[in-house]
Amino acid sequence: MDVREYDNWIDGGWAGADRKVERKSPAHGRLLARFAQSDEQAVRAAVGAARKAFDTRSVWSSMPGAERAKALGHWVDLMTRDLERLALIEAEEVGKPIRFARAEIEWSIELARYAAALAWQLPGDLVSNIGDANLGLVTREPRGVIAMITPWNFPMVTLFQKLPFALAAGCTVVVKPSELTSGSTLEIAKLATEAGIPNGVINVVTGSGRTVGEILTGHRDVDMISFTGSTAVGIRIAQRAAEQVKRVGLELGGKAANIVFADADIDAALDGILLGYILNQGEECVQGTRLLVEDSVAESFLEKLVERSKKIRLGLPTDEDADVGALIHEKHMEQVLSYIESGLEEGATLLLGGNRVTENGLGMGYYVAPTIFSNVTPDMTIFREEIFGPVLAVTRFKSVEEAIALANDTNYGLGNGLWTKDIDKAIRVSRELRSGTVYVNTFLETAAQMPFGGLKQSGIGRENGLDGLLEFTEVKSTFIKLGKRTHALPHTLTTSARS
Ligand code: NAD
Repeated sequence: MDVREYDNWIDGGWAGADRKVERKSPAHGRLLARFAQSDEQAVRAAVGAARKAFDTRSVWSSMPGAERAKALGHWVDLMTRDLERLALIEAEEVGKPIRFARAEIEWSIELARYAAALAWQLPGDLVSNIGDANLGLVTREPRGVIAMITPWNFPMVTLFQKLPFALAAGCTVVVKPSELTSGSTLEIAKLATEAGIPNGVINVVTGSGRTVGEILTGHRDVDMISFTGSTAVGIRIAQRAAEQVKRVGLELGGKAANIVFADADIDAALDGILLGYILNQGEECVQGTRLLVEDSVAESFLEKLVERSKKIRLGLPTDEDADVGALIHEKHMEQVLSYIESGLEEGATLLLGGNRVTENGLGMGYYVAPTIFSNVTPDMTIFREEIFGPVLAVTRFKSVEEAIALANDTNYGLGNGLWTKDIDKAIRVSRELRSGTVYVNTFLETAAQMPFGGLKQSGIGRENGLDGLLEFTEVKSTFIKLGKRTHALPHTLTTSARS
């Protein structure tokens, strides 16, 4: 297997770097890629290219929306052409099974296709009721140069919930992907140039967050920071943004609950709970990591869930039948195992898993068995903290009120799910759940038109949908006087008084 060598992508071409960071496979330990460890000069060059492309209005920011849509359409075609290659890079660098990586690229392309259509129709308003001699225009303009900082768990989807929307609005961009998974981001930037998106519109600088990320967020020519990652780093980003009164969009952590009522379609709920806690090895911001199950059905539900969970197949990224892959790195695996340890110490009952997996050729990777704890109480660490591994914490409840209170008993508010055949209950509970998304009788559903984002410490702002486009725009009010101006100036200052 060839090692992929990457530089930064700046102003439509590769820009060399003296220092490199290595990415080894979390599934089998072999060297996969080398990325640039960027310095201040590289970040300045990337922001400079984005600034120039934005300020030279005809290049992109004031191009007719239809033209931008056309260029984005070509880009979509090239990504579709290269889907398999991009999926393999994604699978290997993240450690996830290839079929899920494929689905991720397909979904990213879908988001780009949707955002391209939005470029045709940036909304605006005409205000006609401010007097006969006045007309108001409320227009939307691209925000400017956007710094995008993305995580490692879904390198493409987290980027594509931002990038095509910002481009559709007319912004230019500098992306700082995770230092662990930068390959696909660099590849799609190169494809953008091939598709005819002008130089400087998309730039990518790689390297660690603490160095490259800090330089980028502090750069005065960056107008907005759009960040996806942990709540801890999100707080730091918000502080940096505040220093220069920059706009900020934050997509942060989560601790979703999946509520199963006794009157649910139990088989459907089992599918949803299973997918919810194991998808992407549990490295998922909307992971259904807390199962709240009604006491009267809890015993039999958990028996079935454990039986189904035993069939989950762990495998290498290229294993077409694998359901769960490797965790991102050794330190993260150890952290997940220490959360499992805390569950045991704090008195939860281990129903399944709880261990590292090294059998069947997985010994060189960071694999953790699907793990289920029951008798979890709200004071336990595994109920409260984001684990980011295939670990499910189960708590029983006896009433609708108790279920809602348990679900909302968290600092996070990204997503929650509920399962019931009673429509009144479904609507009542979904209204009372404090999260940006609620799934009723389904889980981890997606649609490009539906906004995505969090309440509480899960973030600020929304991605996807029309809201996702508007995040990257500024509102401008323009007053237009029709006919002769009769403003209420002091008499002495009017033109007639002076003449
Ligand atoms: P992270 O916060 O450690 O890193 C995210 C990005 O920020 C990386 O590119 C990193 O290099 C960079 N970074 C780190 N320190 C920085 C700093 N001081 N200044 C600027 N940039 C810095 O997150 P992670 O471990 O890569 O990803 C996992 C986290 O992301 C989880 O908490 C998960 O819930 C969250 N996440 C949220 C969403 C969402 O849409 N809400 C989606 C995916 C992941």
